[in-house]
Amino acid sequence: MKIHPIRTGDVQIKSRHQHALQKARPRRALDVMLDRNWSPRLPIGCWLVEHPEGLVLVDTGESSHANDPGYQPWWHPFMRTCERRWVKPEEEAQAWVRALGFDPRDVRWVVMTHMHGDHAGGIPGFPRSEFVLSATEAKAALARTGPLNGYLNMHYPDWFKPRTVEHADGPWESFEASTKLTSDGRIRIVPTPGHTDGHQSVAIEQDDHLVLVAGDASYDEQAMLTGDVDGVAQSYERHRDTTERLRALCRRHPVVTQFAHDPGSADRLKNGIRTRA
Ligand SMILES: [Zn+2]
Repeated sequence: MKIHPIRTGDVQIKSRHQHALQKARPRRALDVMLDRNWSPRLPIGCWLVEHPEGLVLVDTGESSHANDPGYQPWWHPFMRTCERRWVKPEEEAQAWVRALGFDPRDVRWVVMTHMHGDHAGGIPGFPRSEFVLSATEAKAALARTGPLNGYLNMHYPDWFKPRTVEHADGPWESFEASTKLTSDGRIRIVPTPGHTDGHQSVAIEQDDHLVLVAGDASYDEQAMLTGDVDGVAQSYERHRDTTERLRALCRRHPVVTQFAHDPGSADRLKNGIRTRA
């Protein structure tokens, strides 16, 4: 299966957002707000997978309108002052899918790791696809309180009616639950809560290794190895539990890990570099 990494521009976040020092969520979030230090510019990644049953997109990246006046809620201090974004129209996911030689209308599934703005910004470009979200994530993102939690649901198109999954296909490897996306089971979805309660990751079985597309389950490989929690994660404990499960998977199998904001993701994918946990 061919997997294409896609970079929908860059984001900069506060250093305490990238690596939290506090455990309790209110303290962690406050720390991010007061932090004067920024991370380097980080990629905003998503992935296109060529499977015989159809094209699969994992996440949709950021919108080139993300900096337009009014796109980020004016009343939200975090969205307005704690993130900087750079996205050109030609860097949007649908433009990349075209540049790779495909028609965005031929993308069969879009699996969303979670629905934060920089992962859901490209949704309007895939009107014919079936969107697959965890039931927990869909509920949080579509709620009236969604924007408060980083879900910019005012930008979801009218046709956006995701299929929700409860991960009812039984345990898989180090995870207690899973969902088979393709009938051959070579693409599976596993729950990886912590960053958000409904966060999920995608495991892709290649001939001699797995590729684990883990969105924001961790911000980069190093943070996954050390179990570092990010500044906005919904649950510190579940985040820690998830990274332990990711490490367990890496100990059982050769795994190439992929994270949305990890500058090393594309190189590991290209060169098949396994994560040693
Ligand atoms: Zn996120």
